[in-house]
Amino acid sequence: MAEAFGGGQGEAHLLLSHTHWGHIQGIPFFTPLLIAGNPFSLYGPGKGEPLQDAMRQQLHSTYCPVPNFFNDQVGATIQIHEAEEGAFVIGDARVAVRRVNHSRGITCFAYRIEAGGRALAYIPDVEYLEPAQRRPALELAHRADLLFHDAHCRAGDYRPGWGHARDRDAVALAGEAGVRRLALFHHPPERSDQEIDAAVAAYQGQEVVVEGAQQGQSYQLGKKP
Ligand SMILES: [Zn+2]
Ligand SMILES: [Zn+2]
Repeated sequence: MAEAFGGGQGEAHLLLSHTHWGHIQGIPFFTPLLIAGNPFSLYGPGKGEPLQDAMRQQLHSTYCPVPNFFNDQVGATIQIHEAEEGAFVIGDARVAVRRVNHSRGITCFAYRIEAGGRALAYIPDVEYLEPAQRRPALELAHRADLLFHDAHCRAGDYRPGWGHARDRDAVALAGEAGVRRLALFHHPPERSDQEIDAAVAAYQGQEVVVEGAQQGQSYQLGKKP
């Protein structure tokens, strides 16, 4: 909130995978969106499931105490882009979008962002029930410097058809794609830090560096020399 975002000059681009609660419930309370002037662009799946409506309804006064900043004249200046599979450009960054297999009835997007010779892949809620479903994820993660991957399940609590990956699915995919660093995320709320640490410890010593993503953490990939 320091400087630009506090003063209505902060520009940001948000890439949304899908609109399940866990992925949007922070939006109403993200203060920079409440400050007039901040230019925001929000990208997400929209075809047949209008993103704009979903965002507006989430902030309806029935559910939400804060002003509905997806309406005109309130808060940040927000442009909503209903993305499609393919690629688009934001400034110096190239963004690739692929649909991945998640829950029935919802489109879930995964992203790859390339800029300055570095690549980051974000593969959220996903389940690989058949080999072909790994293909879009492998393409996005190909030789990425950093990959965020769903690791909601461990081997013992995996439920086929539930729409989520196991930690070992994430590690296998990262290894096959030649990823340098893998951050496991989307842990279930009941999983303790110790359990996550133990899962991560089991994958040390491999070519891909495996870690548990943490709330509040930020990553700097830098430019390629
Ligand atoms: Zn989901
Ligand atoms: Zn989720």
